[in-house]
Amino acid sequence: MSTKVIDGKAVATKLREQVAADAAVFTEQYGRPPGLATILIGDDPASAVYVASKQRSCAEVGIEGFSFKLPNDATREQAIATIEEANANPAISGIICQLPVPDQLDGVELTGLVDPLKDVDGLTTTSAGLLALGRPGLRPCTPRAVMMLLDDAGADLEGAVAVVIGRSNLFGKPMAQLLLERSATVTICHSRTEDLPGTCARADVLIAAVGRPRMVAGNFVKPGAVVIDVGINRVDDVLCGDVDFEAVSSVAGAVTPVPGGVGPMTIACLLDNTVIAARMAVEQA
Ligand code: NAP
Repeated sequence: MSTKVIDGKAVATKLREQVAADAAVFTEQYGRPPGLATILIGDDPASAVYVASKQRSCAEVGIEGFSFKLPNDATREQAIATIEEANANPAISGIICQLPVPDQLDGVELTGLVDPLKDVDGLTTTSAGLLALGRPGLRPCTPRAVMMLLDDAGADLEGAVAVVIGRSNLFGKPMAQLLLERSATVTICHSRTEDLPGTCARADVLIAAVGRPRMVAGNFVKPGAVVIDVGINRVDDVLCGDVDFEAVSSVAGAVTPVPGGVGPMTIACLLDNTVIAARMAVEQA
């Protein structure tokens, strides 16, 4: 069987071009560009790299970047004041509070304080509630990215059996809801799931977000299934996903690589969410 490798970079490039065009129209119409604020608290090196990459990406598509940095010993009051400052600034359309935050702070509390109209990560209670009710709103970037990759791969979701491994608020739960919205029959697996390989092997669409390098082996996959690998793991300094790409490639109909699959799409969706948030703000003003 010939397996299609889903090219996340190519799909992300197309989406970024669309976002750049949309940002240009917005800027022309309102005399200012959409703006994205990143709030980085502490000195976690991986977070600093992610934030720098988000700021660079903003510049590439005509979104104005706002960068807030707080020290490792920042207090709850300082963090809240920073979020409130970004909430109050009309030039800022979207806000990301980069996780994880230092131990003395509560990341869930802080992300929950972002104005729901600027919640481009889609993680506030309001955004989660709108998704659960099937109402329009800002959707979390990585699940949105996966939906776009599934559409690009031509996956027919209506009535399809979809299995998501992972039940996090960040990914697994919103992913399942987006699949349900498209009329897939959805199962969510987690660390207590019995017979994980057998459950996964019934899936027409299998999505892995576990954080365990190459855990999804060939026997997890129904022949011809579409397999999306959300995992980002570093093993011996090499990046790999939660899917054993070599083993799964000989069984699946289509599969995403790591790197070059979901990752580039997540950041493109963040940029897209920022332009969507900018429009929502002017339409609701
Ligand atoms: P998380 O909060 O740690 O959740 C991991 C999930 O996997 C949990 O629900 C856990 O089950 C489940 N799990 C752990 N071990 C398992 C096992 N042996 N069998 C079945 N399920 C198991 O992680 P996350 O934030 O959702 O992220 C998951 C992965 O995606 C990570 O590698 C992360 O780096 C990556 N990620 C990538 C992107 C991207 O842009 N590509 C974005 C977000 C996340 P329990 O709930 O029972 O503990």
